[in-house]
Amino acid sequence: MVRYMPAQEEPPQSEGLSGLPAPTFAGGKRAMTTDPVVGSPARTYPEVFVPGEEDLEDGEFRVTVLGSGNPWVTRAQASGSILVEVGNRERDLLIFDLGTGSLANFASLKLPVNALDKVFITHLHADHIADLITLFGSYRKSGRVDRGVKVWGPSGPEARLGTAHFVAGIREACQWDSDSTRSIHAPESFELEVEEFEYSATQVVYEQNGVTVTSFPVVHALSGAVGYRIDFAGLTVVHSGDTRPGWPLVHACEEGNVDLLIHECFPPAEAIAASMGVPIERARVIVDEAHTSPRGAGKVFDLVRPRMAGLWHTVVTPAGTPLLFDDLRKVYDGPVVQTQDLTVFNVTTEAVIVRQSEVEAQPRPVPGTPRSEPQARPPAQPDWWDDALIPLDDVNSLP
Ligand SMILES: [Zn+2]
Ligand SMILES: [Zn+2]
Repeated sequence: MVRYMPAQEEPPQSEGLSGLPAPTFAGGKRAMTTDPVVGSPARTYPEVFVPGEEDLEDGEFRVTVLGSGNPWVTRAQASGSILVEVGNRERDLLIFDLGTGSLANFASLKLPVNALDKVFITHLHADHIADLITLFGSYRKSGRVDRGVKVWGPSGPEARLGTAHFVAGIREACQWDSDSTRSIHAPESFELEVEEFEYSATQVVYEQNGVTVTSFPVVHALSGAVGYRIDFAGLTVVHSGDTRPGWPLVHACEEGNVDLLIHECFPPAEAIAASMGVPIERARVIVDEAHTSPRGAGKVFDLVRPRMAGLWHTVVTPAGTPLLFDDLRKVYDGPVVQTQDLTVFNVTTEAVIVRQSEVEAQPRPVPGTPRSEPQARPPAQPDWWDDALIPLDDVNSLP
């Protein structure tokens, strides 16, 4: 049995806390943690995860952070999204939130486009749902020719604030996009289904192919935000969504052991005020009234004691992240990772391993095996195009 293979040469370190690798955008190659392996892996894992070169094993979860950042989307950090690959027979993909830019990261994983058809929404802040239009409209043009998309999400305190209302609005808003390709795509690829569930209950909202997803309420901004617990083959992953530290999450973690708990975490208010240029009073409201501080996350981790913990929805900086860890370490001593875009967790019975991915900037879409073939009828053209089009016969006939 071979354990995690150490790096040949030391990559850059962050400032401050010794041993914490630098962020990927600053030249780091490893996950931002001092504990990349918990347990004894049953197989060898290369130092970095290269998409397409490692099969998902039976009975395994592979969890990839597609968007780790904030509403302010940058090339370094897309907005909130987490992908769960399930090692069941169907190799199901479940995506939790679709923040802006998250699908650019999905593309780099070289997974089948048409397998990304199950979306779970934690809440309806724009930084968690903006790429739904891309998934519904553009992924149909990129390979999802044979099926629609289904969305699960919470109700709100009134109907207009619920997931069903939001999804119906997206379907409506995409009429032009849909009509423009209706003649060449199968009717089922235009389906955008929604299953809305009561936000305030802790309950099973999905049970298929050996996977169970349980939602629980979280405290964030308005009523109607949830987190999720995902169970498969005796393994448990829990995702907080956006939240202040809350008991429903802790209670949802009580049955069995949690292998991976990904919890949101904002830097201390002073650091937010400095990095975003906002007054300290406003920064305090952002952190204390809607989100979780490093010590708050540490408190939750201490109550749950997961095998591995991940911080998420955090602006990552070479100087700030070690300070955040210093603060969290005052209340929690277990394995913790500051997730970035394309941080990958392999969750198995034997071990939990975390790495960063090494990806291509311009991968081709992988369509997957379609259940039906796309049609190839060109769409009807409006009459006025005859006069509007520049004839191209002269250039098209050139050798
Ligand atoms: Zn939010
Ligand atoms: Zn958010």
